[in-house]
Amino acid sequence: MKRVPFVAGNWKMNTSLSEARQLVNRLIPLVSEVKDVCMAVCPPFPYLIPIVEVLQGSRIKVGAQNMHFEKQGAFTGEVSGDMLKDVGCTYVILGHSERRHIFGEDDAVINKKVRKALEMGLKPIFCVGEQLEEREAGKTEQIVETQIKRGLEDISADQMVNVTFAYEPVWAIGTGKTATPEQAQDVHRFIRDWLQVRYNQTLAEKICIQYGGSVNQENAKALMDQTDIDGALVGGASLKAEHFSSIIKAAVQTT
Ligand code: PEP
Repeated sequence: MKRVPFVAGNWKMNTSLSEARQLVNRLIPLVSEVKDVCMAVCPPFPYLIPIVEVLQGSRIKVGAQNMHFEKQGAFTGEVSGDMLKDVGCTYVILGHSERRHIFGEDDAVINKKVRKALEMGLKPIFCVGEQLEEREAGKTEQIVETQIKRGLEDISADQMVNVTFAYEPVWAIGTGKTATPEQAQDVHRFIRDWLQVRYNQTLAEKICIQYGGSVNQENAKALMDQTDIDGALVGGASLKAEHFSSIIKAAVQTT
């Protein structure tokens, strides 16, 4: 038996407030019968409170797309983990490739954020992934290992149970190019093996590793059928309730 799959939607900087409300109002009935799949949506900051309100009483949780690593203070324009918790977030996406590559976040900053999120009682969705040149140079495992090692520094096994991984090859994000199920499985297995060595087998078997990168209703099932792929972090396709709900349904285990 695999782990309970987890499918999360990363809305990025998209939707108006009314579109955001419409999206979740459509999604709720579409997934109300789905059992044994964890689900979350990650709207932009200003929509967190209204979306938490709309989702009250449903099984769909809410996550944020980023946070600062300090608790409070003179950090103009930033949002703390405490604030996210306060408004009803369960998850926070950290280390997303757009944060790494557009906003210059390095592994040390991401590590501070992961530690603070855990301290605040938020569950990080910790993203890792290689760029195309790195894959072509045969460096995928080396890059992913460095991101994991540094990003998870000083995180105990007890804390790790609250961390979800998202393997997102940068070349597959928003490009329409997906890793093949086998390519993704290889990296997921590599991450799980690393967790077993760094922590222990029980923990490694428990941890959810999502795949992300142009997941859609056509390719979702083949990806999530792989032994070590436990769900998906979905960007573009999470902005359409019908598409996102199909991906969630594809995560339901048939065996
Ligand atoms: C993402 O932003 O995490 C993502 C995987 O985007 P997309 O599904 O659009 O490739």
